Amino acid sequence: MIALSALGSGSGGNAFLLDTPEGVLMIDAGFSARELARRVGAVGIDPSRITAIVLTHEHGDHATGARRLAGQLGIPVVATEGTLRALGLDPAAPRVPLRSASITEVGPFAIESCRILHDAAEPTAVAIEAAGVRIGFAYDLGRPTVGLRHLLRGCDGLVLEANYDEVMLRTSDYPPSVQHRIAGSGGHLSNRAAGELLGDLWHEDLSVVVLAHLSRQCNDAAVARRTVAELLDARGFRGTIAVATQDAPLGPLPVAPGPAKLRMTAQAELELF
Ligand SMILES: [Zn+2]
Ligand SMILES: [Zn+2]
Repeated sequence: MIALSALGSGSGGNAFLLDTPEGVLMIDAGFSARELARRVGAVGIDPSRITAIVLTHEHGDHATGARRLAGQLGIPVVATEGTLRALGLDPAAPRVPLRSASITEVGPFAIESCRILHDAAEPTAVAIEAAGVRIGFAYDLGRPTVGLRHLLRGCDGLVLEANYDEVMLRTSDYPPSVQHRIAGSGGHLSNRAAGELLGDLWHEDLSVVVLAHLSRQCNDAAVARRTVAELLDARGFRGTIAVATQDAPLGPLPVAPGPAKLRMTAQAELELF
């Protein structure tokens, strides 16, 4: 069992926590160190239990508090070489480089990453395994690549960007050039694109979906949830769809290894005896 919390998500800051009995991992740190500590406390976790901070990329809404919080807690920042360089960590600050197509172990967590298309130094999506549970995180991406689909396959929980509603974007005050950039391949995933990707990724162990990085101007939590639920439920999904918001933490949401995985384990044990 693992517990997933969203400390907040959106263009004003993103941060998530995975809580296991052996330690807590922070994924992105896009609020000030003080605000991160406050929100960690608000979901009932002692910040001293955080073992590392994983960063998807160096943009302020994902990394602004990372250096200070990692320094205060004496824990490493885990990110691609490009992100670590762009972050400008102190030379002596602990760090763990993430390399695509390999698994990085940090405490009880096994972390895999995949390069995504975004205007940052070396941005990634990540999938993290601990306590028999796999959880994927993907946002700030214009379109899902083959590599991303591969990374996110088989996850028990998924945190995925549902940035904008297509009609709300088209009728927004954004000039056409900005609308184009948001909807382009280096921009963001719409609610419909997120729902279609989730539908493709659906399997019977997928039990928790958190929609993330919603636009304040061009989206609405109820619209995002409805659009994704229609596409995902049609595939047979019966789990939880939650929406992470900018201002208040969400969770903790328990994510257990799915029944299919438990059955596989039971089968493997039977074969052993
Ligand atoms: Zn970004
Ligand atoms: Zn972002």
